[in-house]
Amino acid sequence: MRAVVVRPPAPGAAVEEVPPPSLAPGEVLVDVVECGVCGTDRDIVAGKYGRAPAGSPYLVLGHENLGRVRAVAPDVAGWAPGDWVVATVRRGCGEDRFCRANRSDECETGRFTERGIGGAPGYMAEQYVESPTYLVHVPPPLRAVAVLLEPLTIVEKAVFMGQRVIDRRGTTPGDPPTEPPTALVAGTGAVGILAALLLKVRGYDVTAIDRHDDTTPAARLLARIGATHRDAADGVGTLGDDRYELVVEATGAISLDFDLAHRLRPNGALVLTGIPDAAAPPTSVRAGELLRTLVLENQALLGSVNANRTYFEAGIRDLTVFEEKWPGVLASMITARRPLADAPAVLTDRHPGTMKTVLTVVPGGAAGP
Ligand SMILES: [Zn+2]
Repeated sequence: MRAVVVRPPAPGAAVEEVPPPSLAPGEVLVDVVECGVCGTDRDIVAGKYGRAPAGSPYLVLGHENLGRVRAVAPDVAGWAPGDWVVATVRRGCGEDRFCRANRSDECETGRFTERGIGGAPGYMAEQYVESPTYLVHVPPPLRAVAVLLEPLTIVEKAVFMGQRVIDRRGTTPGDPPTEPPTALVAGTGAVGILAALLLKVRGYDVTAIDRHDDTTPAARLLARIGATHRDAADGVGTLGDDRYELVVEATGAISLDFDLAHRLRPNGALVLTGIPDAAAPPTSVRAGELLRTLVLENQALLGSVNANRTYFEAGIRDLTVFEEKWPGVLASMITARRPLADAPAVLTDRHPGTMKTVLTVVPGGAAGP
């Protein structure tokens, strides 16, 4: 079968013929219909990280997936050929209590693998096999947009965690407040836009910043859902004196992360989801002011990575809510669909203002479109 192959830490990607997977007891064989391309994929292709499975000279790339079941082992219940499916990404170490509970996003040993990223084959291939433990049913009406489920799960977890932190203060006699709570989203790639959608559904007044003017598809989408877009190419000064209860960061830009901390209201929470470069040179910050405000205003900074099955199931419910509330908005996030053969070019080329490029792998999957 054809697959997008990388050989980390060497840069570059190629479409190659690789052996197809074979169905074993307890597994489901899936045709990959679509695979989304994200910054992590581009970083792996640039040679920044990624790890081939043990004993393999290469890694099959790709983790944002949508597929259709082709075959099911006789001992598997609940799945049938033709079912639409999204697979989770991380596979637990099996050693700690979180991984044993299928919550490998909270792994304590670090000895997990991630399909398409580190130590396990990804989904930019015509087929994969997997245990139902890691497979999530996609209702057929969502099939045109369900390739966005995996990035949405990052947001589901981040917003859930941030809300839990905000809710630590408990309720007051003034609840619910007369004004909606305010949220800031930093970054308008797919994760940032999905965060804006989810926060709107959760009742927040949402502002999103990026480094572009109001003419991009992302800015137009934000206007359609009633969120405010600000061009922060010259910094967060574009926000004036505004501060926010919940800030969700989706850029990995280090100095921006510190600027965002100064944008928290008292009792607020900043959730970081972008992955900063650990080898970046030291950054100068007003640490005294930052830490003092953190204490005096009961603020919290927290990180959030990956997502377990719970967030995939929540994401399926919210994709349906988004489709009902803003028909066509999710589809408009997929700014390009390209054949698998174009993967090497897509993975080394980024057009500013695009939200999500999707590779079409097996059009329609096992049972046709
Ligand atoms: Zn673990």
